[in-house]
Amino acid sequence: MNTIFNWVNNAPASSDSTRRNEVTNPATGAVIREVVLSSADDVNQAVAAAQAAFPTWRDTPPLRRARIMMKFRELLEINRDKLAALITEEHGKTFDDAQGSVTRGIEVVEFAQGIAHMLKGEIAENVGTGVDSHSLHQPLGVCAGITPFNFPAMVPLWMFPMAIACGNTFVLKPSEKVPSCSMLLAQLAKEAGLPDGVLNIVNGDKEVVDALLTHDDVKAVSFVGSTPIAKYIYQTAAEHGKRVQALGGAKNHGVVMPDCDLEFTVNALMGAAYGSAGERCMAISVAVAVGDVADVLVAKLAEKAAALKINNGMVTGTEMGPVISAAHRDKVIGYINAGQNEGATLVVDGRGVSVDGHENGFFVGGTLFDHVTPEMTIYKEEIFGPVLCVVRVATLEDAIALINRNMYANGTAVFTSNGAVARRFENAIEVGMVGVNVPIPVPISFFSFGGWRNSLFGDQHIYGPEAIRFYTRSKVITRRWPESGMAHANSFVMPTLG
Ligand code: NAD
Repeated sequence: MNTIFNWVNNAPASSDSTRRNEVTNPATGAVIREVVLSSADDVNQAVAAAQAAFPTWRDTPPLRRARIMMKFRELLEINRDKLAALITEEHGKTFDDAQGSVTRGIEVVEFAQGIAHMLKGEIAENVGTGVDSHSLHQPLGVCAGITPFNFPAMVPLWMFPMAIACGNTFVLKPSEKVPSCSMLLAQLAKEAGLPDGVLNIVNGDKEVVDALLTHDDVKAVSFVGSTPIAKYIYQTAAEHGKRVQALGGAKNHGVVMPDCDLEFTVNALMGAAYGSAGERCMAISVAVAVGDVADVLVAKLAEKAAALKINNGMVTGTEMGPVISAAHRDKVIGYINAGQNEGATLVVDGRGVSVDGHENGFFVGGTLFDHVTPEMTIYKEEIFGPVLCVVRVATLEDAIALINRNMYANGTAVFTSNGAVARRFENAIEVGMVGVNVPIPVPISFFSFGGWRNSLFGDQHIYGPEAIRFYTRSKVITRRWPESGMAHANSFVMPTLG
């Protein structure tokens, strides 16, 4: 059995820990490798390496850091399919979906190539007589990243390229369910010329996370995962004096207006609800049918959901692969049971799906509920599986009020052909990322990604311009060069410059 260990100082690093996690191929149910669950000592070693690398890396000109990013991007392109195959193997999503997710990660590296421009500060001449001011954006030191299972390459790439381009060094703790991509990313970063110690990986679980959150030399923590853990990360790291951005779970609503292009909308909802087996933080898990569109919408969705092509994600033509684990499959099925028991109408039932030749895989079929109400468990909780709930409302204002009451506020979309409706929605909706006829409005890499309410704890969204603010601290210099003969005297009053 191949065991994945850690990556410190640009080399594989062992661990004293005897704890392991089995990594499974969800399409077959087979254990394919194992990953070490490291100890706090392993974290100390990785943070020490990152801390030692920091002074030289901080002083490396941003242009040189950018050139490493350029090379890294090239290597990512060359290895896109290798990364995508690892994603499908460990996560289960389809190969083309996995390729797309690698591309979205590469886009962040492309943005990081412009770091020299983005680190420029501001300057003002003559803020007082003979006095000038300028600002600097300086790196923080060692930053840590903790990532979820559902995007094994993209979410790590949301974090470390921006952090290290800013001049920080980094310790990554990938999801123990999907560790292989991160290890390949680190090898490619080394090949691109990243110096020893700038990017390190410690595999593990809560023990590693807690050691990072409380380590004196870790200055900032980026987290992406579920809401309860995001809250814990935010509180614990903040208590230990760190800067934190902790992105949590979601329950994203797609509002379907009677004036929408229905065929387009149904196709968009299918991909957004069932793509990646619903295991996306931007998946649409609630379709809000406004007015008389509901019956025809449900009929069309039902036909397509029942016909979804479910298989191993490596099989060409597959639309939906398995969910991540047997435990998660059972959890999703538990939600379907709850929906039925609480009175929702089960239109398409995904329980009991079996795929020929993959009888031990963790498959759940596309599931569709109608007449879901806000009190039901399937509406309130994040299912993170291929389950779409239709809620019927009378008006656009009812849809907006419903969404604004939800505890999550990651993404949302409205489907309409009416500009005034779209404008009202954009303005009134209290959600971090909004689509107009765009079902999964993940911001491109030169904007920033993040939700509101319980979908993000912290002040800065991830990647894009907000990443520069998160991974640097600013300093303002005020300076004067006294000329000989200039009048001066002791002064004990609050200085004013004018
Ligand atoms: P998770 O919260 O279970 O795990 C995320 C990370 O936290 C992992 O690295 C895990 O090892 C670690 N972790 C788990 N339990 C911990 C604990 N008790 N203490 C400390 N660390 C712990 O999430 P997941 O199941 O891997 O991922 C799915 C979740 O992530 C969903 O809720 C999804 O919505 C969310 N997600 C959010 C975004 C976003 O951008 N908002 C993106 C992707 C996924």
